[in-house]
Amino acid sequence: MEMTYKYLKPESHYSDLYDRFTVEECRRIEKSLSKLEYKPKIKGNKKSKKKEIKVTINLAPIPLYAIKGERYFKKAETIKEWMERDRGRDEKLENTPPPQNISCPSCDSEMEVTMKDLRIELDESKNRVLFSFECPSCKKRKGIYENGEGWKPAPVMCPKCNNEVERDHKRKGNKITTIYKCSECGHKEKEVWDLDKKEPKEKLDPDFEKDRKRFCLSEKEGQEYVASKVKLEHISKMLDEWKEKQKNKELYDKVKKIKKLNIAGLKKLLTPTLDKGNYIKLEFSKPEIKKDIAIEFTVQDDKADRGKHDSRIQLQRIIKKNIENTNWRLMSEGVNYRLGILSGRLRGYDNKEDLIRLII
Ligand SMILES: [Zn+2]
Ligand SMILES: [Zn+2]
Repeated sequence: MEMTYKYLKPESHYSDLYDRFTVEECRRIEKSLSKLEYKPKIKGNKKSKKKEIKVTINLAPIPLYAIKGERYFKKAETIKEWMERDRGRDEKLENTPPPQNISCPSCDSEMEVTMKDLRIELDESKNRVLFSFECPSCKKRKGIYENGEGWKPAPVMCPKCNNEVERDHKRKGNKITTIYKCSECGHKEKEVWDLDKKEPKEKLDPDFEKDRKRFCLSEKEGQEYVASKVKLEHISKMLDEWKEKQKNKELYDKVKKIKKLNIAGLKKLLTPTLDKGNYIKLEFSKPEIKKDIAIEFTVQDDKADRGKHDSRIQLQRIIKKNIENTNWRLMSEGVNYRLGILSGRLRGYDNKEDLIRLII
């Protein structure tokens, strides 16, 4: 059987539609940006102040250039997507089998499919085919979805008491009259639907072709835009790479400035300042060597009137300040104090990555 196309249309249809959106968008931009009025402030004496100058400026060309270009850039792909969607709808409508063995609720005869229709949802994957069944003997009709679920009209509520109303359809020729009646309050409404009445024609857009030429780029113009866009992106990528390199260079320069000390060097660095702060007899013990080195230290507080708390805080401050520019750090547990002996641990870093982490 030959496939029937209800949704899929020739490509020119989509191209026209796409251009229509482009024209609308560009007209909007042009309207809002092309005639901006502003009053420049002019310095001068009081007399000249009374003379107001109004300037009209047109800011539209730059955003228009980008919008026209981007619309061109995305056109082919958008049209392809639209056509795929519509082709999918046609295939779904064509290939979905109707539910089987539907019997007439009045006379129990097997009903026949007379029509089918695709119900389109916001989520395209949830579209369902609705089949119209008719009883060949008593002509009763019934709508059933592809999964067997029965079709129900959306309930209509009474505008007066908000109860669901009953409805009754009558057809005379090509006129369908629906009467809504509320069984609670007796409210009644009539609605007539004339099948012969034509939909009001879409308003003509006399400037469309003219504006289409202005806003929808030709193949040549479009390709020029795409080429300049590619060039621009290339430049901005290069710029980013260069910035990244600069950033790394700064980082490596800082790493180079870190004083890398061994344990003996560390002791030489710390001893004089600790002495100055009245902490004496710095000693290291138990180095723990893993990825980096952790080492315990002890020092004695030589200042008699210094309390436990002050002693700890001052020592921490001296150590931290002294090793700031080295590859050593005081470990997070800080410093302990017992009977004038302070202890703690220092961690030394050796490899480049760890040193970078000390900086950032
Ligand atoms: Zn029947
Ligand atoms: Zn009512």
